[in-house]
Amino acid sequence: MDKLKGVVVKTTGSWHTVKLNSGKLMDCTVRGKFRIKGIRNTNPIAVGDVVTVEQNPNESTGVIVDLDQRKSYIIRKATKLSKQAHIIASNIDQVFVLAAITEPETPLMFIDRVLVTAESYRIPAIIVFNKMDILDEDQKELAEAYKYLYESIEYPVMLISAARGLNLDQIKAKMKNTTSVIVGQSGVGKSTLLNKLQPGLELKIGDISDAHQQGKHTTTFAEMHELDFGAKIIDTPGIRSFGLVEVEREEELSHFFPEIFKVGQNCKFHNCTHIHEPGCAVKDAVENNEIPFTRYENYLTIMKGDEGDKYRKDIYA
Ligand code: GDP
Ligand code: ZN
Repeated sequence: MDKLKGVVVKTTGSWHTVKLNSGKLMDCTVRGKFRIKGIRNTNPIAVGDVVTVEQNPNESTGVIVDLDQRKSYIIRKATKLSKQAHIIASNIDQVFVLAAITEPETPLMFIDRVLVTAESYRIPAIIVFNKMDILDEDQKELAEAYKYLYESIEYPVMLISAARGLNLDQIKAKMKNTTSVIVGQSGVGKSTLLNKLQPGLELKIGDISDAHQQGKHTTTFAEMHELDFGAKIIDTPGIRSFGLVEVEREEELSHFFPEIFKVGQNCKFHNCTHIHEPGCAVKDAVENNEIPFTRYENYLTIMKGDEGDKYRKDIYA
């Protein structure tokens, strides 16, 4: 039987839409078990998966019989409520964190949590501040300061206005020939951005005042959008829980703050948590402004939850 290759562009439970290399779309079921080692009970196939398909005789449908190894994936872990881990999307090249200085104000903590999550998946992240068109001079300066801050720790930063089409060429250049996901708080402009990048996509745009209304987001399943300048965007409701990574061991968190990890190589203790240990190179670097203070603060908060505040006071009393 003919074997066809393709990419999963949509999943709705038991059916998966595969875009075959010929360009044709085929609805497929799954045969066989495609498990990730060490993770139980997960969905076998996710949007972004590269698969092998057998077409059903005399039908336009097919069966997914094989799965290429995933380059990357985003997973929602099993919880007490939902025993199933869930792969949200796979083969993602980069994550765009869409943020804003105002309407809504994005806390740096939100950005740092997304960055930590992206690092934990080894997916590069790009920070984008939207709504530059509505900022006054002070707010513009703040945006520039944040750009400087994150660029100093080697994350690309873009300042755009999706509504006005400002600097969208920068985003397009980054997105070309890659698969991206866009993460951001409700109302920050994700749908507006996608619609601007691809007129005709026509995702529903919400009003901030309507943010609580149900049915604003029309997508209830994962889907890959192909934009005509050669970019792929995976859009899924599950992406909203991105940025809630659970770090297993205390020492591990610093692996996901690249600048802290790098300087931490010079700490006296190899398992230094950079909180209270003597001979901590990270604390020195924070004091000398070599590591941004907000990053260290958010490191403490993520590490200790609300207790982070207590540690901060202890250290900077
Ligand atoms: P989403 O929830 O992230 O998808 O956000 P939406 O795309 O629905 O946008 C929320 C609101 O912000 C809408 O009223 C948009 O018109 C508005 N908006 C989006 N981008 C911009 C921008 O660059 N400038 C301004 N002034 N408003 C924007
Ligand atoms: Zn240390």
